Amino acid sequence: MNRPSMNRRLFLKWANLAGLAAGLPSASAFGVAAEDAKAASHADAQATTKATSPETLLLKDYRPQSIYKIPITEVAKAKFPVIDMHSHPYAKTAAEIDEWVRNMDEVGIEKTIILTMSTGTAFDEIQRKYAKHPERFEMWCGFDFSGYDKPGFGPAAAKELERCKQAGARGVGEIHDKGQGLRSGKSKAPGMHPDDPRMDAVWDKCGELGMPISLHVADPIWMYQKMDRHNDGLMNAYEWRLDNQPNIIGLSGMVDILERTAARHRNTTFIACHFANLDYDLARLGEVLERNPNLHADIAARYAETAPIPRFAAAFYEKHADRLVYGTDMGTDKAMYRITFRILESLDEHFYEIDQFSYHWSLNGFGLSDAILQQVYHDNAARLLAARKL
Ligand SMILES: [Zn+2]
Repeated sequence: MNRPSMNRRLFLKWANLAGLAAGLPSASAFGVAAEDAKAASHADAQATTKATSPETLLLKDYRPQSIYKIPITEVAKAKFPVIDMHSHPYAKTAAEIDEWVRNMDEVGIEKTIILTMSTGTAFDEIQRKYAKHPERFEMWCGFDFSGYDKPGFGPAAAKELERCKQAGARGVGEIHDKGQGLRSGKSKAPGMHPDDPRMDAVWDKCGELGMPISLHVADPIWMYQKMDRHNDGLMNAYEWRLDNQPNIIGLSGMVDILERTAARHRNTTFIACHFANLDYDLARLGEVLERNPNLHADIAARYAETAPIPRFAAAFYEKHADRLVYGTDMGTDKAMYRITFRILESLDEHFYEIDQFSYHWSLNGFGLSDAILQQVYHDNAARLLAARKL
């Protein structure tokens, strides 16, 4: 789960549907009296003026449109078959799951890895729901952190992991540590980080069972920085700020923890979610990948963060093409998939996708070569999945 892009976008979508986007409930939706409706529409008008006047316009309401007469590339379908290594159980009903499969067919997603973040009956239920499409979806389970501060935690968590594997889990994820301790969905271990010796038995068991782990450490750099006029990602940063959190390990410290964990468990495969949140310092991520052969990185939900630096990002893709895997983490819409393809495949410049990504920056395509696209879209993931023991 990625807060900056996915949650907010889905929230906005919901808010639009519910008529809340303008900041006020629409009168008719709530059956209020005519007087109230009049007052509401007056407040609405005031809000609109505030949001459009250059004197009072807020950064979060800024919706620039490109002035440039330059090529616009529509990528309806990915150039090569795709394995999406980072998604979640967004579709809840059989009909929604079928619709998702149709969307995947249309845009070229061969298979989606669903990071359920759950164990026990919650995992089993998700597994059952998606069982109709075993070729199209793979379920990965979470960890059960209950009793993490008591003796016996490691063996108990390892046992539940084995049970989930029996029930159909093929990997583990998404496991989070944003600096205050490990989390798997609602199951939390405050203060226990991935390199904690208490986790040794659990990571080793993943390796033994051939289950890769999708591990999310830290969050984008702007969330740790001062919330002021110099903050480059201010709109997203302010909403998901971490600068005011107590007892938090910073981004760099979390990357060190990720490396120590990968180094201690060489027989276990780790996939660092979202470029390990080093999308702002890809050179460091390159060094981390070089030092840790059992570590990969997914590119999920960091399209807007890398598209402002297309030449540097494309060079990074070229250098580490064998270690990066495609992911989305942003719902099931066809339009969502197509934006990611446009960024990876095209050489389009200076375009905006504010509703999707919530940043005001303009984006640019990387124009990745066919060979790199094939690796990132498909081959790296296929190799990683095939290397598992059954
Ligand atoms: Zn996610």
